Order: sequence, then C-alpha cells, then structure tokens
Amino acid sequence: MTGLSERRSVQPWMVSLHGGHSSAYCDHAADSLRDILDAAIAAGYHSFGVSEHAPRSEARFLYPNEHELGWTLEKTISDFDQYMIDLPAIAAEYADRLDVICGFEAEVVPASTYVEKMLDFRRRSRPNGKPLFDFFVGSVHFVNEIQIDGEVEDWVKAMEACGGPEALATAYYDEIATMVDALKPDVVGHLDLIKRNVLLAGIEGWTLQTAKARAAADRALEAIKANDGILDLNTAGWRKGLGEPYPAPWIIERAVKMDVSFCFGDDSHRISHVGEGVAAAREYLLQNGVISVTTVRQGGERVVYLL
Ligand SMILES: [Zn+2]
Ligand SMILES: [Zn+2]
Repeated sequence: MTGLSERRSVQPWMVSLHGGHSSAYCDHAADSLRDILDAAIAAGYHSFGVSEHAPRSEARFLYPNEHELGWTLEKTISDFDQYMIDLPAIAAEYADRLDVICGFEAEVVPASTYVEKMLDFRRRSRPNGKPLFDFFVGSVHFVNEIQIDGEVEDWVKAMEACGGPEALATAYYDEIATMVDALKPDVVGHLDLIKRNVLLAGIEGWTLQTAKARAAADRALEAIKANDGILDLNTAGWRKGLGEPYPAPWIIERAVKMDVSFCFGDDSHRISHVGEGVAAAREYLLQNGVISVTTVRQGGERVVYLL
C-alpha cells in the first residue's frame, strides 16, 4: 500500500459512518480492527467511520451471546476502555492511506442513566486535549429496555409490553426522538430497525407503518432535523434478508421533504461486511430522491459529496 496516488479512482461518496465493529471489543463481531481497516481500503473507502458499541453499564442488558461467552459487565466496560485507547492510535497508523473517523454507537439503556453515560463518552479527550471522538451514532436497540434487534422472542415481548405492533413502532420512534433531543448524535443509526423481526414474528409489515406509526416516525425525523443529525442509510437490512436497507423508501420520502441529510453505514461486523451494499445503497438513495451524502471528517467538520 503506497498511499494516496493509488486511490485516485476512489469515489468521493464512498464513505461509511456506521460500522467497523471488531472482535477485540464486540462479542458479535469477527476480525481485528486493523483487518477491518485493511478491508476498508481494499473496498475503496477513502473515509471510514468506526463506531463500536458503547457498553450498557448494567449486567441485565448483556446480550445472550455475551452470557454464553461468560463475559461480565466489567469485561465489556474494560473492553470499551481499551477501544478508547486503541482507536486514535490505530487511526494515526492508517493516516497516510485511510481517514479513520473515530466514533462509537450509543445505547439507550439503562433508561435512567444512559444520557449521562453516553455524553460522558462523547466528552472524552485525548492526551493532547483534543476530543477523543470525531462523531458518534445514536441508535435505539431497545424499547422500554427490551432488546428489539436480537432474538425474535424479545421483539415479541417488547411488542406485547407495548400492546401491539403499532404501539411498538410508535414507542420505538418516540424513543428515537427522545434520544436525539437528549444526546444530539451526529448520525442516527438504522432508523427503522424496528422492522427487523416483524416478519419472523409472523406479523405483517404494514402494522409498523400505520398513520400513527408514521406520525411518530415524523417526530423522530423532526428531532433529527432540529438537531442537525445525519440519517444512516444502513445496508445491513439487505444482509438480514429484509429485501431493503434501513430506512425504507417511505421514510426516505419524508426525510427528503424535511431536508434531512444522509450518510452510508455498512454496519460491518467482519471483513466480509466492509463496503457491502454501498454501491447499491447509492443507487437506492438516487432512486428515492437523495442526491448527496454528508460525512464527518476527523475533528468533526462536515463534508457533502454528490452521489
Ligand atoms: Zn453490533
Ligand atoms: Zn446498531
């Protein structure tokens, strides 16, 4: 790898602000962070956001897989501490060939303390006094503290606790609006993640898109717009067999009307995911009326690239 001259053909829009999960810091990722970054260069990225999951600060929110691995809360917290040390150092190592944008993916649990915890991560600084993170992704993986993107049984539990699929979708989008107002994340992750388990649960997809649910999605989009957030066009929806990325065309249509900006997220958790679906996602955005992506540079400055 000899640097920039080899990468002139790289497409300016080829950026991702959500992904780069890796095995040293995440139970459900494979491959090292360096292997992921090498894959990002090979995939044609010039700029690649790394957004490892923030820890969930109470043992009751450990993932089933973490329990199976025998991981404790303390381990997940110390892994993230190590990530905060490693990430800027590894980003510096790659500076001549890839802009590694340092971030993390925030959680909304525990409900009573997540705001303070996530803002504390956001405020961390490097030994030289500069901010540790260039950006972060705000995501909702739990509704009323029940996980909705893991086992389908949990999704059903969350739905029953809300009183049905429409109420689940409404609560989910309202939780996003609350999170966005509280954390003001640079990027909002996989906006309609709530659809992930709907068919597996034997429920029809339209039940998450009723007038009431769409009004709640609008409130989430308004919060994103008001807080200058960027929407993650996340290719993992294809990977999960949903036939479309996150978010669906009906949400993109509303976001375009509100002039909300978009970025790409490959949501990579292993080298085979890196860059997967981004070219198709560009076509998908263009088909749905989006003509540019917005990204964050090291230091947090924003740049817009035409598609
Ligand atoms: Zn993950
Ligand atoms: Zn996520």
